[in-house]
Amino acid sequence: MFITTYHYITDPRDAYALHGPAIPEFLAQVDSFSQEYDIKDITQISGQQDSSRDCIALSFDDGTFHHYRMFPELRKRNIIASFFPIACVFDGIVPITIQTHIVLSKLAPEVIAAKIEREYPSIVKRIAHEDGIPRKRRLSPLKAMYDEVFAANIKVVIADFPVAEKELVIQPLFWEAIDGTVDDFIKTFFMQPEQLKEMHEAGMIIGAHSYAHTSLKSLSYEEQKKDIAKSKDIIEGIIKSKISAFSYPFGYYDQNTLTIMRELGFRYGVLFNHQPLGPEPDNLLLSAYDYRDIRQHKKL
Ligand SMILES: [Zn+2]
Repeated sequence: MFITTYHYITDPRDAYALHGPAIPEFLAQVDSFSQEYDIKDITQISGQQDSSRDCIALSFDDGTFHHYRMFPELRKRNIIASFFPIACVFDGIVPITIQTHIVLSKLAPEVIAAKIEREYPSIVKRIAHEDGIPRKRRLSPLKAMYDEVFAANIKVVIADFPVAEKELVIQPLFWEAIDGTVDDFIKTFFMQPEQLKEMHEAGMIIGAHSYAHTSLKSLSYEEQKKDIAKSKDIIEGIIKSKISAFSYPFGYYDQNTLTIMRELGFRYGVLFNHQPLGPEPDNLLLSAYDYRDIRQHKKL
C-alpha cells in the first residue's frame, strides 16, 4: 500500500524540461502498476490493508501542464489520481521553487551558488553550517535525493532561505533563464484554470499545495494559516467545489500545519517523504514515494 508522487513528466516538445520520466516511461510505469496493484485514490487507500492485492495511489504535485496532458491517458485506464496545483500561479505568480528549478535546469550550479554565497554568506552559513554550499557532502539525505549532491544542496539551501531574500536572489536569474514574459511562461508551463475544472468534473481529486510553495514549517502559525486558506479559496473558486486534500510543499510541516489542516477542514494530507504508508496511516500524514523510489521498493 503506497502513494507515488510525480512532479514533472518530460516531453522533447517542451521548452522547459525538468527532471521527470518521459511520457512513454510514465505510461509504462502506470501500466505496470495496473497489472500489479489495485490503483485507488488517496481517499480510499488507507484502510485497505485487508485487500488481497497491494494498493497504490497516484498523486501529482505542482499543477504543471504535463499533468493535464496525461489526464486523457489516466481516464482511458479508469484511474482516479490526485492533483495538487500551486495556487499563486492562478494569480500570475511563478512560485520561487519553480523559478529555482528553471534556473537550475538552464544555468550552471556554480553560477547560482556563487551569487547566493556572495550576497548572503550568513544565511548560507546558518543553513549549511559552513562557509559556502557544500559540493560533496549532502545536506539532507532525503531532499532532492536524485539530484547531484551540489544541485541538491542548492535546492535545500534555497528551500530554507527566508522568503524575502529568496525572491531577491532567484528572480533575476529566472528572468534571465526564460524566453518571453512571465505570463508566457505560466501559459506554457502550468495547467490553466479551465483545465483544472475539467479534470475535477471528470472525477479527478483536486487538492491544494499551498499558495506560494514555501516551506510551511518556516512560517508562523498565522502565516501558515493565511497561505493555506488562500490556496484553498483559490482552488475551490476555480473548481466550484470544496476540497479536502492537501500536499505539503517539500514534505515539510509542523504541529501548527496539522492544527490548521483540521481547522480548515482538510481530511487528507500527502507527505512527500520517500516512505511507504504504515499499516494504519494518519490520513493527514499519508507518506508518498517519488516515482523513482518504486524500483527500490520492488527490490525490498
Ligand atoms: Zn511541490
